[in-house]
Amino acid sequence: MTALNDGWFTEVFQDQGTAFSLQVKRKLHEEQTPFQKLEIYETETFGNLMVLDGCVMLTSRDNFLYHEMMTHPALFTHKNPKKVVIIGGGDCGTLKEVLKHPGVEEAWQVEIDERVTRMSEKYFPELCESNDDPRANFFFGDGIQWMRDVEPGSVDVVIVDSTDPVGPAEGLFALDFYRDAMAALGEGGIIVQQSESPLLHTDTIIKDIHGDMRQAGLDHVQTLAFPQPVYPTGWWSCTMGSKENPLKYFREEDAVNRPFVTRYYNRGVHQGALAMPQFMVDALEDEVRPEEG
Ligand code: SAM
Repeated sequence: MTALNDGWFTEVFQDQGTAFSLQVKRKLHEEQTPFQKLEIYETETFGNLMVLDGCVMLTSRDNFLYHEMMTHPALFTHKNPKKVVIIGGGDCGTLKEVLKHPGVEEAWQVEIDERVTRMSEKYFPELCESNDDPRANFFFGDGIQWMRDVEPGSVDVVIVDSTDPVGPAEGLFALDFYRDAMAALGEGGIIVQQSESPLLHTDTIIKDIHGDMRQAGLDHVQTLAFPQPVYPTGWWSCTMGSKENPLKYFREEDAVNRPFVTRYYNRGVHQGALAMPQFMVDALEDEVRPEEG
């Protein structure tokens, strides 16, 4: 539920009894795409704001937290990621982070709603600055079907940068999708999924992701928490799954010597994010291996 009162955009989380507001200068854009209602606002202090079906997607000011954590832990855990596929992520922020890795030869953004990308090009040009990189490929269609069709064993890292698990994104949080992703991954392959708020969703969505990934054959599963001020509770997470490799170990020296700029991610942030809070270890007891707690 959203409200626009006296120059404030508010997203109300009715079942939590909370709300998040940003003071806005003006609405820049509104349209009903074939998939969702897309709105863009100019805010007073957070730059531009993208909203899909009333839910805050990103702002210019704080999206780097989410995009860097969706990308770099997974890419510095895989031994040599060459082909990376982003499911969703139409704002192109994750694609930009992926393409910072010089070893990546091919990156795909598989977004169901082309309008999200077109409006991001217009209102978030800084996120789209690598879109002309010859390694960048765009497919506008359903990520669930794309994963069914892709050549088995051909992908190194899958990043599921989706909306909440409702509507077209529901099937991206499902056992069948993880099975398809598992088949798509090559040796040492990793899938990483945005996994909502640790405070709100550990017993539900995060627990289900752990269970489903393991059932699909991804034997190692690790949730990493990070701040994201504009999402419910301000605390968010991603969950990585791997067939073969424990996810506690990453290419630390490569992370330290990364040949590109980050604003949040570094070796210490990565190490810290691997430490799962005790209440999550307790809640995921049946799902978490002792060495991952
Ligand atoms: N960071 C955001 C968050 O967690 O709220 C997500 C950003 S990104 C804009 C999410 C994108 O996932 C949306 O543009 C949406 O259209 C896309 N999406 C949802 N379901 C999809 C599907 N089945 N296949 C491909 N893209 C999908």
